[in-house]
Amino acid sequence: MKQIVIISGKGGTGKTVIAGAFAALARDKVMADCDVDAADLHLLLDPEIKELHVFRSGVTAFTHKERCEDCGVCKTVCRFEAVREDFTIDPISCEGCGFCSFACPQKAIEMKANTSGKWFISETRFGPLVHAKLDIAEENSGKLVSLVRQKAKEIAEEKNYRWVIIDGSPGIGCPVIASITGVDCAVIVTEPTLSGLHDAERVIDVTKYFNVPAKVIINKYDLNCDMTEKIEHWFKDKNTQILGKIVFDKAVVESVVEGKTIIEYSDNQVTKTLRNIWELLQEELEKEQINLKE
Ligand code: SF4
Ligand code: SF4
Repeated sequence: MKQIVIISGKGGTGKTVIAGAFAALARDKVMADCDVDAADLHLLLDPEIKELHVFRSGVTAFTHKERCEDCGVCKTVCRFEAVREDFTIDPISCEGCGFCSFACPQKAIEMKANTSGKWFISETRFGPLVHAKLDIAEENSGKLVSLVRQKAKEIAEEKNYRWVIIDGSPGIGCPVIASITGVDCAVIVTEPTLSGLHDAERVIDVTKYFNVPAKVIINKYDLNCDMTEKIEHWFKDKNTQILGKIVFDKAVVESVVEGKTIIEYSDNQVTKTLRNIWELLQEELEKEQINLKE
């Protein structure tokens, strides 16, 4: 089983369109939407939720006022000024260290697990999808990304599937690191703009740092052919393979509006290129596996 993650330096580069296309093209796969802050693969795959789980992350102190004798010990020991004048806890300031709970002579402070999101196992017309929704203003999305990936991997192993296709988090922060670590290939999607090049540079640095093999797709390449050429040169210098270049086509936006993958929606230059990219990617990964065995 191989894990492929589709990532980009920022949102809006067409990462999810490409993940959706791979979902339509690959056989025997599980999809994982690891863009947990702004998940939208479900818009293309129309999942039917089979399992819903609550994601809890960390703990926060809670004072049972009926047991509290107003001794003030908790307020003295809290370094984060999270204990209010009435000895209840400000959950925003509480870091969950548990010191107040340990120190309270009345055992009046309980450490309660936080709820920070939900994750789902769903069925789609292309197979299982593991996805998640982080609550507004919640952090720890890296932990939720790892959970989604783990579940997708477990399903793929259980069903003896060939692929886990991951729609990764954009950017270079904690969630994207959680999206890429240990995958067989990171497919970086970029656009022919100066910021696209800078974003791609930052992402490639992250993949190199974590020793993740990376390949590139240039999306909407014909919008700026000079910049596309620059990007191609830059990646060649970095010994990073370009899997393909996709033309701009308004059919892509139309397919998203219709809630379909571009593969289902149209038979045009974009879909031809994506089919070629998928074939090439499979071949390359097989080659790399043979090289590893030798
Ligand atoms: S340490 Fe316990 S008993 Fe004392 S004020 Fe805090 S919560 Fe109340
Ligand atoms: S758990 Fe730690 S941070 Fe939170 S109120 Fe207690 S002592 Fe303060």
